[in-house]
Amino acid sequence: MPLCQLQNVSKHYPMGDHVVKALRNVNIEIESGEFTVFAGPSGSGKSTLLNLVGLLDAPTDGLVLLNDTDTAQLSESERGDTRAAQIGFIFQSFNLIPVLSAIENVELALRLSGEKDPKKRLELSRSALEQVGLGEYIHRLPRQLSGGQQQRVAIARALVKKPALVIADEPTANLDSETGNQILELMQRLNQEQQVTFIFSTHDPNVVSRAKRVIRLQDGNILTDERIP
Ligand code: ADP
Ligand code: MG
Repeated sequence: MPLCQLQNVSKHYPMGDHVVKALRNVNIEIESGEFTVFAGPSGSGKSTLLNLVGLLDAPTDGLVLLNDTDTAQLSESERGDTRAAQIGFIFQSFNLIPVLSAIENVELALRLSGEKDPKKRLELSRSALEQVGLGEYIHRLPRQLSGGQQQRVAIARALVKKPALVIADEPTANLDSETGNQILELMQRLNQEQQVTFIFSTHDPNVVSRAKRVIRLQDGNILTDERIP
């Protein structure tokens, strides 16, 4: 059973007197453990697609299945719970909460995912930050960290709840190329060593070349979908 399936998915945005067709009849199956990139130029539909997979938005047409469950059948609160417990998000602008320290940012995600034991939350958060190489920075505020370090906190925050899927929308877009490479290496390592399933997006050919599966988008269509041997 695939982890995630998109069946004949379209997404249209009404824009005044016309409609933007951001996705046109897209079909994708993502298996657990994959390391997939959505590649394509700006406006090709990458974020729209990631938002559907991450249950942040619903399609205009077609089905989004997660673990064989039709997500359209979930109530709003079930969708929220599924998102909090099963899906980790990494954004291009890091999206950390500025008044919370690194460990508090990570711990909050765990609390929202339903972990009730404060001691366990603290232990798991500390260990997630150690895994991304930030063991010595856990009490720093986001503004006291570099961009690359902030993105590592975001990765720890995404991973700490042991999600079925981590979604990263242009995770390296705001980083210099060396730091971006390090972030990609970290994601690769987590995929290889812990079988974390990643779907990320980029328009950067260097980042595309890291993926094990490349799905190319243009104007809301899938151009190619290939697994790299
Ligand atoms: P990408 O992430 O590849 O840059 P997007 O998924 O953001 O592409 O956008 C795909 C298309 O949908 C673009 O034409 C964009 O302008 C349009 N679009 C995205 N979000 C919205 C929205 N909320 N309202 C209207 N149009 C949108
Ligand atoms: Mg985008």
